[in-house]
Amino acid sequence: MTPAPSGLPGFLCRGPEMTKEWKTRTQLVHEGSRRSQYGEMAEAIFLTQGFVYESAEAAEARFIKPGPDEFIYARYGNPTVRMFEDRIAAIEGTEDAFATASGMAAVSGALTSMLRAGDHVVSSRALFGSCLYILEEVLTRYGVQVTFVDGVDLAEWRAACVPGTKAVFFESMSNPTLELVDIEAVSAIAHGVGAIVVVDNVFSTPIFSNAVAQGADVVVYSTTKHIDGQGRALGGVICGTRDFIRGVVEPYMKHTGGSMSPFTAWIMLNGMVTLDLRCRAMAEAAARVASALEGDARLTRVIYPGLYSHPQADLAARQMGSGGTMLAFDIAGGKDAAFRFMNALEIIKISNNLGDAKSIVTHPATTTHQRLPEAQKAVLGITPGLIRLSVGLEDAQDLIADLQAGLAAI
Ligand SMILES: *Cc1c(COP(=O)(O)O)cnc(C)c1O
Repeated sequence: MTPAPSGLPGFLCRGPEMTKEWKTRTQLVHEGSRRSQYGEMAEAIFLTQGFVYESAEAAEARFIKPGPDEFIYARYGNPTVRMFEDRIAAIEGTEDAFATASGMAAVSGALTSMLRAGDHVVSSRALFGSCLYILEEVLTRYGVQVTFVDGVDLAEWRAACVPGTKAVFFESMSNPTLELVDIEAVSAIAHGVGAIVVVDNVFSTPIFSNAVAQGADVVVYSTTKHIDGQGRALGGVICGTRDFIRGVVEPYMKHTGGSMSPFTAWIMLNGMVTLDLRCRAMAEAAARVASALEGDARLTRVIYPGLYSHPQADLAARQMGSGGTMLAFDIAGGKDAAFRFMNALEIIKISNNLGDAKSIVTHPATTTHQRLPEAQKAVLGITPGLIRLSVGLEDAQDLIADLQAGLAAI
């Protein structure tokens, strides 16, 4: 075996394809692609933990400073993973990205990598359960002070962000009641005191996210959701400036071990190819489902940010240009009626993922948010009849018929 002589196009005959003028759909197909000497069409899975150096001197040089397309160990760099990082960074509009083993590795990595004992963080209260655990249990255990606010209330953000606040964190659309946090307004408040803005934008999807243009400094995704889009693999990603990603996040992730595997990155790369088409089709179907359900006497409320009745419909249009792919509705009759409804569904599956090609219903009060005290469920609007629906890629008419059959079974 002769290693590629240095200076010649070695294992990778072409650097990553990157053209910032490309439009989203083109970027989703081509951005970041790297090809080996075989010129393979599809992105290769570099299922390798390490890389062979042509000499001891080359190994030394790479450990001092790796070149732009050089890797050392898959925990902090692999060609397939880097393709995915380059592609998602282009879509999000950030300089760089770091791919992680799950969405939670991304949330905890983004926060813990930059925080230390004595720092102050402000966070919205309506969070995904595990995000709440990171902020409420983990960070405070290590001496970080966390203030929780009602994410919708700008006055609360203004009061909580004080000079010295290190970071603010929020999910731009809350789970499961789909309340929006105004990214532009909260970023302005946070930047006024010098805080870094970290947004978990899963519910907005990377397609409807304009978080960076609206002021966010760091955007995290669970790629398990829309980016995979077929419910196959766990993954996550942190998007930000090159200084933040390579200077703050990478050293932390590299030593604590929450990186994405090359096989997962390959799944996510393939998911990205159809991400725009899928998110738009799902959002269109979600809007049709929401309109069909709105006003139904068996429901006490239908929550969809694309409906005029949503109290933040204007903000949704401004911030996302879409109502998104998720909706929620409250079944009159509470838990028993909600369960009868769910059990009667044929197409729509009972599960707790979202952003999948398969439509999914969730009963938050007894599953994802089961462990919250009743008082907190009430504060968050998680009533016994509340159903969360992640709209998939099925025909909207079939979904509406399935939902109607479910409602008839109440
Ligand atoms: C699913 C989800 C996460 C966690 O992602 P995993 O990939 O399951 O670890 C974090 N935040 C939000 C908003 C999510 O929906």
